[in-house]
Amino acid sequence: MSVKEKKVPPKLNKYMHARNPYRTPPSFKKLASVYPEFRPYCSYDVGGKVHLDFKDPKALRALTTCLLHQDFDLKVTIPDDRLVPTLPLRLNYLLWIEDLLMHAAHCETSDVIVGVDIGTGASCVYPLLAARKLGWNLVATETDNINFTAATTNVNNNDLQDNIIVKKVDDKTVLQGVLDDADIQKQMYLKKKEVNDNNDDDDDDDDDDDDEVMSELNNTPSDTPCKHTDGDDNKSMKYMFDFTMCNPPFFSSEEETDSMKKSKKQRGEPISSPTGCIHEKVTTGGEVTFITQMVEESHKFKSKVRVVEYKRLITTIIVCCSSINNNNNNNNSTIYNCV
Ligand code: SAH
Repeated sequence: MSVKEKKVPPKLNKYMHARNPYRTPPSFKKLASVYPEFRPYCSYDVGGKVHLDFKDPKALRALTTCLLHQDFDLKVTIPDDRLVPTLPLRLNYLLWIEDLLMHAAHCETSDVIVGVDIGTGASCVYPLLAARKLGWNLVATETDNINFTAATTNVNNNDLQDNIIVKKVDDKTVLQGVLDDADIQKQMYLKKKEVNDNNDDDDDDDDDDDDEVMSELNNTPSDTPCKHTDGDDNKSMKYMFDFTMCNPPFFSSEEETDSMKKSKKQRGEPISSPTGCIHEKVTTGGEVTFITQMVEESHKFKSKVRVVEYKRLITTIIVCCSSINNNNNNNNSTIYNCV
């Protein structure tokens, strides 16, 4: 091998998806040579090796935004006090979803994939990566005004408005008002149709079909399957979101964030400093309440979004959350697959 690959330490590599490009860590030296904004956060040892202070949120922000640009051609701005996403982990989650779609929901690689990212954050990181790397379409929801504005700007600055809809939502809702939003359904339906109807040249009939389907969509209660979903024509696709995903706020109070910091100290200091403001970390009732609501709303909408003939499911992946059943006593990362 002519170029020696620097591998991720075994402990981290164990959790890295096989298709994750960051199994091979990025070169800070290269990044510093290309991005002047990254340089101020680098220190050099006597051997010329570049080091980064992971405890400095500004250094983390520079690392993430420079990597997004270098590796995904994404121009992303993250406001000062907002959560800075760690790219290897965010990519992992998307790749797990891709696995689920391919293997559990039998999607073809040519299918138009539509997902929902609940709580997209200022960076809008999952939708941007999903659109740019995987060609998916996302509805990104956000309750926080600053994050909503920043996420919208990030989508626009990357010309991904055709692939990503950013929607401001009420904090009392998770999926309600999103999966049943008539405008969203219409846009996503038309997107799926565009590809699926490529070989269909009967445009007039299509327009009539669209009107009929949209009218039915708007008038069908969320827990009732639309009649078209039982048919075997292309109309079935319009009811379907392929997945929902969420990196939920973890804590029920600011005090709880402090107590978690203390328990982390007992387990050993984390490598990087936590970033993000209180709205991004705290939600009424904590993650258990949030996830319970998400599960209930997923169940409520399952008939509306499930498309039997395409064998696709609405799949909710909830990342990095403790078990619902044992009320926060277990901090292992868990994936819940709610159908
Ligand atoms: N997805 C991003 C941000 C996660 S932080 C990332 O992984 O980096 C959680 C985000 O969820 C915050 O931005 C918060 O404002 C938002 N949020 C909290 N409750 C929400 C709700 N009910 N619906 C949508 N977004 C919500």
